Amino acid sequence: MARLGMVIDTRQCIGCEDCVVACNIENNVPPGKRRDWLRAEVKGRFPKLTLTFFSQRCNHCDNPPCVAVCPTGASHVSELGRTVQIDYAKCIKCGLCLKACPYEARFMNELNEGKADKCTFCAHRLKEGKDPACVAVCPTRAMFIGDLDDPKSKVNELLRTRRHQVLKPDAGTRPRVHYLV
Ligand code: SF4
Ligand code: SF4
Ligand code: SF4
Repeated sequence: MARLGMVIDTRQCIGCEDCVVACNIENNVPPGKRRDWLRAEVKGRFPKLTLTFFSQRCNHCDNPPCVAVCPTGASHVSELGRTVQIDYAKCIKCGLCLKACPYEARFMNELNEGKADKCTFCAHRLKEGKDPACVAVCPTRAMFIGDLDDPKSKVNELLRTRRHQVLKPDAGTRPRVHYLV
């Protein structure tokens, strides 16, 4: 089974937020909530400053604490590329997964009976052979999704040839969204 992950090239990201808008529309995200978001990082000293954008979302962690704490099995590692998904029918709205996620990637969705929600890697689109909405819409082609277990995949080629990092590596979650820096 594939182990899907994302590679995001921070050198290509221009911070336009098209990924956020596309996700909101594609996934009917309620106003004021988000499945993905932009974080801007400023480094250096004036006038030698660099600005880097990180398009963030659920990392579909290899060691997901949100799954470990879920009392009903609603949050689970799915058969779709071992992505972390939510079985809404099993969610009892306890909110434990929101507290467990170090990335604040989850929210309670008032448009879905107040149940937990987050990035699914656009599972519905993947099943149709399409890229996630955020990946498809990116005007600079900064985002890639693919099988991290396939040495020949584009994502692995990028990880082999470019410097990269994950967010909060010390949290022990083993995130599968990688940032080229
Ligand atoms: Fe769970 Fe958060 Fe990791 Fe996503 S980023 S798999 S919600 S711990
Ligand atoms: Fe599981 Fe739902 Fe509780 Fe999250 S809110 S831990 S998905 S039952
Ligand atoms: Fe949103 Fe889909 Fe991108 Fe996840 S993969 S951030 S659900 S558009």
